Formats: sequence, structure tokens, C-alpha cells
Amino acid sequence: MQRVAVVGGGISGIACATSLVNRGVPVTIFDRGHRIGGRLATQTLRDTGTQWDTRVVDVGASYFTAHDVRFKRVVESLCDQGIAREWTDTIHVADATGVIGPKIGPVRYATSGGLRSVVQALADQLPADLVRWEYPHDVGGLIPRENGIAVGDDLFAAVAVCMPDPQAQRLFIDPGFEQARAVLANSPRWEPVLALTTVYESRCWQPFDAMFVNDDAAITFIANDGSRRGDDAPVLVTHSASAIAGAHLSDPNEAAPALMAAVAQVLDTQMHPSWFSVKRWTFARPTAARAELFGWAETPARWPIGLAGDSWAGGPRTETAWLSGTELGLALAASDSLLGD
Ligand SMILES: Cc1cc2nc3c(=O)[nH]c(=O)nc-3n(C[C@H](O)[C@H](O)[C@H](O)COP(=O)(O)OP(=O)(O)OC[C@H]3O[C@@H](n4cnc5c(N)ncnc54)[C@H](O)[C@@H]3O)c2cc1C
Repeated sequence: MQRVAVVGGGISGIACATSLVNRGVPVTIFDRGHRIGGRLATQTLRDTGTQWDTRVVDVGASYFTAHDVRFKRVVESLCDQGIAREWTDTIHVADATGVIGPKIGPVRYATSGGLRSVVQALADQLPADLVRWEYPHDVGGLIPRENGIAVGDDLFAAVAVCMPDPQAQRLFIDPGFEQARAVLANSPRWEPVLALTTVYESRCWQPFDAMFVNDDAAITFIANDGSRRGDDAPVLVTHSASAIAGAHLSDPNEAAPALMAAVAQVLDTQMHPSWFSVKRWTFARPTAARAELFGWAETPARWPIGLAGDSWAGGPRTETAWLSGTELGLALAASDSLLGD
């Protein structure tokens, strides 16, 4: 069985690799980060001047939901292992003037070790004899050849590109990738988000798990990270509106005062955080997602290229990224180019 390159070690890439190795296909997983996980991102607090140093915070996705029956099974297994847990079905709603009230919705899942631990746990289940890891490795550009697709010095029978579309587009500069470029040409618009982490001396807000903030120029969402992680730490993670993020991508910290003022206003608190940081997501999420489960293209020599992530499978969510990667892996494993040696 010929080897497949999976570029992107977020949840869609690891799901894709899982489908491939479950069918005996060896994979090499590339990620440019020092750790896998992608936007299921966890930051360790350091030098905060508080007792919360070494505590981890979810600075990417806030939580995940599970609707698809296969993803539900994965989540159940993660819960059985103590990695994930049901967090809440109640999210408060607020506007710029303050809290309006709670709203019941689907169960949101969280983790005690940070959401990145979900991707790590799925990666840990991959059989070592079929998987090679290449990270940190920033894949600069793929090269289509007669006898495969080159990623760096290695040749592969197929490549799965599992990441936001604007990042994927950078891999297909070679003229031979006309089909892949065409598939990505109808990409939805991707929005930026700034994630503000604030650590307080003590809790200075009425209890809540998470809050959607409507009609505010600065912020859209506040997560009570202490509730989410289950340790009750006085730590909030706030997501910015896309316009303020777009205006501060070159210096995210400059947006911090406006974001913190909006948090104080919505939560009706005068207490200043003891420490804060701002994480920039240039491509946080697509504004729409395609209904197709994944994208498919070929090189002139007919080697397949798959595209997966949260702009496919009806996303944009963690669950749909998983579904997209899972289905892409199944399709690649069944493709003609992989069935011969
Ligand atoms: C602020 C924020 C809030 C969110 N909130 C939620 C939520 O509440 N619920 C929910 O379900 N989802 C949420 N999401 C979305 C969720 O995080 C994504 O749907 C999911 O993580 C997408 O996974 P992915 O594998 O498709 O992409 P990613 O996680 O982005 O993984 C792509 C990987 O590719 C790697 N990569 C990129 N370019 C290269 C390259 N050239 N070479 C090598 N590696 C490369 C990256 O390092 C990354 O690890 C949120 C996301 C953000 C940013």
C-alpha cells in the first residue's frame, strides 16, 4: 500500500489519518506547529503573577457539539477515558448593555486538560507502525510529479490537505494543481477572531458557563474557562467581533483595552484582570460551509488530492471538521492510486 501525506494535524487531519490507517494505508502527518491540535488550541498560563501559572486555557475553539452518530461514539469514548465531558447545555445571552438571560441548547462538550487533548488522544490511538510524524514542518508547496506528489523530499501516492482554505491555497502554486485551485476557488469568506484571556484575583461576575454577546462592536462570546475546565479558576476567554480583529491583526494587543472594557460592561464588573493575553486567529472560521463532505482534485498524472476541514460537511464546527477528514480518508483509501503497490 502506498503512503499518503496528510498535511495538517488538526482534528480533520487526524480523523483523515485514522480512516487511512484503519484500512492499512501508511501515512505521514505534517504540521507546521510545535504541537498538533490546530484550532483546538490550548495555552499554558505563565508569568501571570497569580496562582494560575501552569494552568491551561482553551484559546481556540470554545467547545464542541456531537450530532453525527459516529462522532458521538468517538465523544463517548473520550468521555469514558476521562478526556472529554459534558460541560453545559445552558449559554447565557447578552447584549452590549448586559446579560439578558440563559438559553438552553445542545450539550456542549469540554475537557479538563484543554481541547487540544482531544486531538492528542485521537493521535495517540494511531498505530505507530503505519504513522510517521513530521512536525514542526511548514509545508511550503506541493510538487506534482509523474510518479506521485512531492512533499519536501518525499513522494506520496496522494495528499490530504486538512486546514483552512486560505492556508491550503498556498500549497497549490505549481501550474499542475489547476484542479485543486479550481476546487478552492469557491471558498467561503474566512473571518478573523482575537481570543482574549483574562485572569482575575477572584470571580467578579454572576455565575455563568458561557455567553453569546449580540450587537456589540467589540465582542461576541465569553467563556467562563473555570467552569469549562472544571476547576472554577477566575479565568475568562472572550472572542472578538471579526471587524475589530481584522483591524488589529498586525498588533492584537492594541485591541485588548476595547475588548476588556466590553467584558466589564457586559458582566457589570469594575475589577481589572491581573493578567491578560490576546491570541490572533487570522482564519478563525469560514462564514459558510459547503455541503460536500470534502474536496477532490487530481494532478495531471492522476494522483489524488483531497481537501478537508471545517469549510466542508456543512460546518463550520469541530464535529464537521472531524466528519470531513474521516470521509476524505475513506475515499482516499478506496482510490485506485492506493490500491496497487
Ligand atoms: C476562536 C475560535 C472559536 C471556535 N469555536 C468553536 C466552537 O465553539 N465550536 C466548534 O465546534 N468549533 C469552534 N471553532 C472551530 C474549530 O476550532 C474548527 O472547526 C476545527 O478545529 C477545525 O479543525 P481543522 O483540522 O479543520 O483545522 P485546524 O484546526 O486549523 O488544523 C489545520 C492544521 O494545519 C496546519 N497547517 C496549516 N498550514 C500548514 C502548512 N503549510 N504546513 C503544515 N501544516 C500546516 C496548522 O498548523 C493546523 O494545525 C472555533 C475556532 C476558533 C479559532
